[in-house]
Amino acid sequence: MGSPERLATVARLGDADARLLGGPAGAERLDSHLSRLGPLTADAGAEDLLALVEQAGITGRGGGHFPLWRKIEAARRRGCPPLVVVNATEGEPASAKDRTLLELRPHLVLDGATVVARAAGASTVLVAVHRGSTAAASVLGAVAERQTGPVPSTAAGTGALAGPAPTFHVVDVPDQYVAGESSALASFLGGGEARPTSKVRPTAESGIDGRPTVVSNAETVAHVALIARFGAPWFRTAGGATGPGSMLLTLAGDVQAPGSVVELLRPTAAADIASWACGPDRNWQAVLVGGYSGTWLDRQQATTTLLQPGRPGAGGVSAGCGIIGVIDEDRCGLGEAARLVRWLSDQRAGQCGACAYGLPLVATQMEALAAGQAGGRRTGRRLASLAENLVGRGLCSLPDGTVAMAESALDAFHDEARLHQRRRCSAASPVGAFPLTRGFTRDHWA
Ligand code: SF4
Repeated sequence: MGSPERLATVARLGDADARLLGGPAGAERLDSHLSRLGPLTADAGAEDLLALVEQAGITGRGGGHFPLWRKIEAARRRGCPPLVVVNATEGEPASAKDRTLLELRPHLVLDGATVVARAAGASTVLVAVHRGSTAAASVLGAVAERQTGPVPSTAAGTGALAGPAPTFHVVDVPDQYVAGESSALASFLGGGEARPTSKVRPTAESGIDGRPTVVSNAETVAHVALIARFGAPWFRTAGGATGPGSMLLTLAGDVQAPGSVVELLRPTAAADIASWACGPDRNWQAVLVGGYSGTWLDRQQATTTLLQPGRPGAGGVSAGCGIIGVIDEDRCGLGEAARLVRWLSDQRAGQCGACAYGLPLVATQMEALAAGQAGGRRTGRRLASLAENLVGRGLCSLPDGTVAMAESALDAFHDEARLHQRRRCSAASPVGAFPLTRGFTRDHWA
């Protein structure tokens, strides 16, 4: 699908200023990857590579915004050989950026993982993907290519990147929302259940089988491949005040090409991205920023909210895992929010009491509001009361994020909530702007 105009701060697949999305339209093979970007030739030891990642200031692109260098440093401090996990599991059905990256640029991800492994002192990299996905097939093919073709890290240089490449293992992970949380992933890869295990001891210190484990999302790792080639100052020429570098966004909902992945180069108002993604023929109502446990913004809020990488400051909104979901003016925002809250509630692992009992109550309250059986104020009071018993009580951020999303919906759709109190609804379209299962077709929108 074509777009009428380019938005200057957003690059699409193949655009000249794209970073992660630069290059050919399809999956890139090793020879093309090497001739386009050159080999990894940084003549640097592990300490220098860690310093490079720190200077770049890259933070996690999976939603946590944690500085990557801190994870690597924590893993090194343990004093026993760490493992590196590339997390491409993407638990949210509307998110496609990591699988798109693995599908199209598998060697960029493998290069980045090589640098992270060298910086951490790891000799093994596990790439966590969903069974049978095109991303899994692509990365398996790329690993096989490296076993027979030129190895990017040995083409030149005599430092840490000139040695043998780490061993790559591509591992299938259950397609469950909480399975991608770092401690859940480490538990599963160590032979346990795919459930969060601890928020006290970081996975970087104690992960798979108690070994230090650097779990980093596929996009984060791919950026490192470019940082190693072009340097930290270059990386910092993109991004904004809260975090350097570009970031991938998945466009979702009532946009021209739902599921398409684009690259945000500089801070941009959420409203500008929504208008561009929807095109001139659609009148959008609100944006859901950062995924299903993200933040709803009405048009006015979206106009003053900048999207950029990194942890937002006070009053800012996290871009989370990079989903930018838009709904048309004829959708019911409360109905959409209630549907997503119920879905999130159904994803709970059921091992923390507050979450197990509290999230279904949040979902029921939101459904009552959407159905005109509760008032906005009453729902707000009940949510605040539930939040007191829920937030911070779980082993993962699912309850906190769900409550925050529901509260942002009450704020963004307060006029609609008043209508619902009078048993009316302004929507003409049915609820269901966002997918609850994978498998939707997508367009790279190049
Ligand atoms: S907070 Fe909820 S989803 Fe997270 S680990 Fe506990 S029960 Fe599972």
